[in-house]
Amino acid sequence: MNAKYSGKCLCGKVSYSVNAEPMFSGNCHCKDCQRSSGSAFIPAMIFREKDVDIIGEVKYFESQADSGDTHSRGFCPNCGSQLFARFSGMAGALGVKAGTLDDSSNYAPNLDFYVGSAAPWDFMDPQLPKKQGAARG
Ligand SMILES: [Zn+2]
Ligand SMILES: [Zn+2]
Repeated sequence: MNAKYSGKCLCGKVSYSVNAEPMFSGNCHCKDCQRSSGSAFIPAMIFREKDVDIIGEVKYFESQADSGDTHSRGFCPNCGSQLFARFSGMAGALGVKAGTLDDSSNYAPNLDFYVGSAAPWDFMDPQLPKKQGAARG
């Protein structure tokens, strides 16, 4: 197996591989991403869900996003690492959190979004385009 993208959680019980390019790569600085990750932002890659092969049990936690979408965050029930996300407004898409990639250099963000909610200690690449709110619209 020689997937373009592969990754796993901290304990290794959940792993994934993807043999397609992401439809979107960007850093979400919204408060929910800060809170759920315990960090400044979530580096998000969006793939077609059918292109992502997942091994292991993933638990999803649902919350209501600012956009009105239901946002389901997928994590390893054993170690708690966040790996995936589903959005009610994007059927068939699956978010993959780039911090879980085996090769970190495989992530190339092209947007910072929800920068209006960014923490004062969040440092962003000044070269990347910025959106105050959602990535779309
Ligand atoms: Zn785990
Ligand atoms: Zn977010």
